[in-house]
Formats: sequence, C-alpha cells, structure tokens
Amino acid sequence: MVSKVYFSHMRAKKSNQNFSTKIKDLFDAAGIQKIFTEGDLVALKIHFGTGGNQRHLEPQHIRSIVDKVKERGGQPFVTDTTGIGLSAPRGTAVGCLRNATLHGFTQEVLGAPVIVADGLKGLTGCKIKVNGVRMKEIEIAQAIAESDAMISIAHVKGHPRTGFGASLKNVGIGCISKVSKAPLHMSKKPKIDSEKCTNCGLCIPFCPVEAIQLHGKKPKISSKKCIVGCGCWDICPENAITKWGGLHHRNKELIIRNVDAAAGVLKYFGKKKVAYFNFAYDITPHCDCADYGDVPMVPDIGLFVSNDPVAIDKASTDAINNSLGIKGTATEEIDAMKIGEDKIGKLADWDAFQIFKNIDGTREWKLQFEIAEKLGLGTQKYKLITVD
Ligand code: SF4
Ligand code: SF4
Repeated sequence: MVSKVYFSHMRAKKSNQNFSTKIKDLFDAAGIQKIFTEGDLVALKIHFGTGGNQRHLEPQHIRSIVDKVKERGGQPFVTDTTGIGLSAPRGTAVGCLRNATLHGFTQEVLGAPVIVADGLKGLTGCKIKVNGVRMKEIEIAQAIAESDAMISIAHVKGHPRTGFGASLKNVGIGCISKVSKAPLHMSKKPKIDSEKCTNCGLCIPFCPVEAIQLHGKKPKISSKKCIVGCGCWDICPENAITKWGGLHHRNKELIIRNVDAAAGVLKYFGKKKVAYFNFAYDITPHCDCADYGDVPMVPDIGLFVSNDPVAIDKASTDAINNSLGIKGTATEEIDAMKIGEDKIGKLADWDAFQIFKNIDGTREWKLQFEIAEKLGLGTQKYKLITVD
C-alpha cells in the first residue's frame, strides 16, 4: 500500500499565490471534505504553544482551514488539551486559553470557537480500551471524543525526547486528557521526603484527587489514589516532592506509548474520520510546549496534507533531513548541514538537549513509524503529489 501525501511549498511564484490560497487548494485536492458531512462537529486539533515560544502555527493558516470546513457545511471548533501539572502555564483550561490568546488563537481571528478539550483541570475524558504495545487503556479528551470528525493540524518541529513532533504526536499525546498523559510520560509516582517537608500544608488542598493526606504530622502520597499528572512537585517550597525529572519514562518508552495513544484515538474515530495537515515551517529543535524557542534549523518547507498519519510524518521528516541546514543554527552545531543527513537523530548530540538525559528515544526516532505501521495506523510508503 502507498498513501498519497499532498504538498505545497512555501514559495509564492505567482502574484496571486499566497499561502492561505495554497492551504485551501490542498484541502480540496486531498478531498478533506470526505471525512465529515453537513452539520458535523469537526475538531481542528492544534497545539496552542506556550507563551515565550515565538515559533508556532500561524492563526491565519488555521483560519483558512476553518473557512473550508464551514464552506463544506461542517461546524468547526479549534481545540487543544491541557499539559502535565496544574500550575504549569498550560496546565488548566484557563492557562491554555491565556496562552492561546498570546499566540493569536482567538475566536475573532480563527472564525470558530476555541475549546479546551479535556475540561477545566484536564481531568475530563472518555476511557477506551487500546491494544497498544504498552498502553491498554487511554482517556480521550472529552470534546475531541464527542466530535464527529477531526482534522489534526500539526506544526512540524524537533523534540528533545521523541526526535520530532508532527501528526502522530498531535493525535497521540495531544488528544488525551491529563489522566492518560501521566502514564504516557511517567513510570513512577511521586513521594514526599519527610526530612525535607516542613509541613506547610500547601500540597494537601492542591491535589484534585485527595491523594495527599496527613499521616501523623507529615503528609504522604497514596500511590493508589495518585494519578501523577497534576504536578504537586511544582508547588512544594521545600522541593520535598519527587520532581518530574525523577518520574520520567525513558524516551524510547515515551515514543512507544505515544503511538499506542494515537492508535487508540484512531480506533475510536475510525481512520476515515480523521485527516492531517503538517505545517513544515519555523522548524526549530524544540517542541511548541517549551516557553522558549530557538531559530529554525532548516529553511521553511511547506504544507503536507494526507489521510495517513504515518505517511505524512514520514514525508515531512524526509523533507527536513533532505534540506540543507541553516548556518549558525542547531544544524551546524550538530554537524548535520548536508542534504540527506539525519538532522533529527543527531539532535540527540545537541548541547541544549543534554538536560534530557534519556536520549535513546531521540536517536531512535524512526521507531515510531515502525510501531505505527504494526498497529495499522498507516504506511511509511508514500506518493508525494505537489499542488502548485
Ligand atoms: S508542600 Fe512540600 S513542604 Fe509543604 S506540606 Fe507538602 S511536601 Fe511538605
Ligand atoms: S499526589 Fe499525584 S495526583 Fe495529587 S497532585 Fe501530586 S501528582 Fe497529582
């Protein structure tokens, strides 16, 4: 099987050819309207990004997709899910919308409502069984689970733990609630070091599932009740609660679990109800969730559109590795300037990523394609159809 991936480059060679026109042309060429029918609620799943990161999806490009869905009779809404840690910048729906607004993702600009899919604290979703390599159950964010169809709109970029982030990550980690993001990211539950704890009492009311209770004079975390993802370690003034870095899976495990989650989301929707847009511009080494962002590693490439999440991510990462690196950027620092060099894999050697110590996953980033193929999500074989 070979999947079609439609592509348009970023260049404008004709006076009337702007990128919004190209987005609309690709929408039609790839037959995206087939995934929904008139009146359907269509989730446009994006990543809002965190304030401080200046390289993210362009709101006006999302608007072009909103306009096409409306033109074809669908009811679009733009959505994302909360991140790990209730006190993190995007840890609640309030924080998510604050950051969405900073980046211009508002109803006024987009022409569609902006909805945080997993509720106020990220604890609202629909649990389903998954036959993944590791994950056997996931909780799909409620608003996404209730929609009739989904268009995944991903910003293609590097990632310190999974090598890159695009469609597979947007429909895997990106579509599940905090309840499932936790076992996807973390292998352990936090503990309180009673020697360091001064019994300030902050963590007890902070925990939304009442997993922290006093045992004698000091609080303890019930590992049975703790769902991990709410991030009490961030609010402890004495650093007495195990930090996020001490709870992580190895990166390779994160890759496997992300594909498992994507398989669950696609099983739930049915593959014919989901389509993928990969915007390959502002391709930085970091994920959009960072509150900072380096300059792009390679020149802007363009837009990929497909019905196959594996084929589109393979085409997008091939395009990155087949680009010339930009001088004075991470690509030069990892010695991957030439066309054809594994710029994504070599990011494991980048100085700035050495804080993410479990870099095995970054080196083995291609594993996600193999697992996704095995789980029936799509194929790495693709035919690139350029629409000019
Ligand atoms: S927040 Fe930290 S110092 Fe305060 S009670 Fe909890 S564990 Fe102890
Ligand atoms: S104890 Fe567990 S569930 Fe409660 S805030 Fe801490 S990590 Fe979250």
